[in-house]
Amino acid sequence: MTIERIIKKFKINRPNDNSDLLLSAYEFANKAHRGQKRKSGEDYIQHSLHTAYLLTEIKADLPTVLAGILHDVPEDTKTTLKEVRENFGSEVYFLVKGVTKLGRIKYRGIELYRENLKKMFLAMANDTRVIFIKFCDRLHNLRTLDYIPEEKQKRIAQETLEIYAPIAGMLGIWRLKWQMEDLCFKYLFPDKFHELENRYEVEKKTERNQYFQKIKNVLTPKMEEAKIDYQLEVRFKHLYSIYLKMQRKDRKFDEIYDVFALRIIVDDIDDCYKTLGIIHTIWRPKPNRFKDYIAVPKPNGYRSLHTTIFGPDGKAVEFQIRTLEMHEESLYGLAAHWYYKSKKSDKIGKQPDWIKEILDTKKEISNTDEFVQKIKLDIFHDRIFVFSPQGDVFEFPEGSTPIDFAYAVHTNIGNQATAALINEKNAKLYQQLKNGDMVEIVTDKKKLHPNKDWLKFVKTKRAKDNIKQHAKKSTLENLKNIFPSKKN
Ligand code: MN
Repeated sequence: MTIERIIKKFKINRPNDNSDLLLSAYEFANKAHRGQKRKSGEDYIQHSLHTAYLLTEIKADLPTVLAGILHDVPEDTKTTLKEVRENFGSEVYFLVKGVTKLGRIKYRGIELYRENLKKMFLAMANDTRVIFIKFCDRLHNLRTLDYIPEEKQKRIAQETLEIYAPIAGMLGIWRLKWQMEDLCFKYLFPDKFHELENRYEVEKKTERNQYFQKIKNVLTPKMEEAKIDYQLEVRFKHLYSIYLKMQRKDRKFDEIYDVFALRIIVDDIDDCYKTLGIIHTIWRPKPNRFKDYIAVPKPNGYRSLHTTIFGPDGKAVEFQIRTLEMHEESLYGLAAHWYYKSKKSDKIGKQPDWIKEILDTKKEISNTDEFVQKIKLDIFHDRIFVFSPQGDVFEFPEGSTPIDFAYAVHTNIGNQATAALINEKNAKLYQQLKNGDMVEIVTDKKKLHPNKDWLKFVKTKRAKDNIKQHAKKSTLENLKNIFPSKKN
């Protein structure tokens, strides 16, 4: 990465800003980091530059990109925060200081996890740009994880999946969220990642491309006839979201039709609705799948029209129809929102309501646990992460038990479970698991059936289905014993 590339990219979005400052920041940081190397063997400054480049991709403003270049200077070099302020002013100083403070967040068990969440929320509430820098810093670290020991890779991936990715989603920065999630997925579940990658990316590619061509051939003449300028884009769901979907619904890969969506980008809102009309006259819409997020945007500000239709060969395909502005907002979230606002009024857009809520919540509740609990309820789908003794990570809904865990590992382990150890201590099979628990299941190979009473406490569909299946079978067997079929 070079500073020239960053400046070039920055100027595209913000031609009127003084990009000379980027060069000074580079010279300043390069001097401070001189001689330092990353684990990959690269000069340390490369990390600072990559972080800054990622920031220009989300159209961050000048102080944010400057702070991106400078973000590791006070933490890792002899150059102080004071010198940053003297050279680049107080706005950049506050951003770098905010990032440095967050840098001390380390994932070490559940208490610190909550403490970390609180710190993230508060930093975000003070100035959301700090979080953007932290995200880009983290994304570059994830991309260079190969160079650090495996244990540390898993810890960083885990922390990202639990703390960073959900917050990126909350801010609507989907682009960063997806990239972070897929990288974490790769390091946490390498086998599953590669399996899915092969099936999804490699095997299906040609088939899918042919299908899009079919759709395009039908749609293009109709759009031209209506004189609507449009771009058609294919959007593939990212691997981690497919994986979660498969787990949630306990489905096989091939049964998931909606691994891709088609996106149509048009000039204005009027054209969005016209396009929707055209699509619905060509193909039959799937009932209850039309959503008007333009009239009623999602809480994080997301706008688009969504509809699922039965396309060529009767396959269900989702269309997302939006303007360019809506499109960029959906990729870059709050960052783009501010960008468009500042273009229109020269002022930073107002902070969304939930940031005010976080600040109000902070005033009301000083206890960390309560604070995080209250915010977590709204933002995070209540989920926990649990380890196997081998260090594999499993994700569950809150309230899940060792039996849910057993079935997640393997059906036979579920069926043959007799006892459980949580954090190496004996535990009841109905005990609720907590974030970060290590779970071990004791099985009895001679045991053939699960216990029907487990249905009273298991939380996952997978566990329920397996237990029910056996319960049905054993009822049938009992009936057969009571009423043996007649022999001729
Ligand atoms: Mn860094």
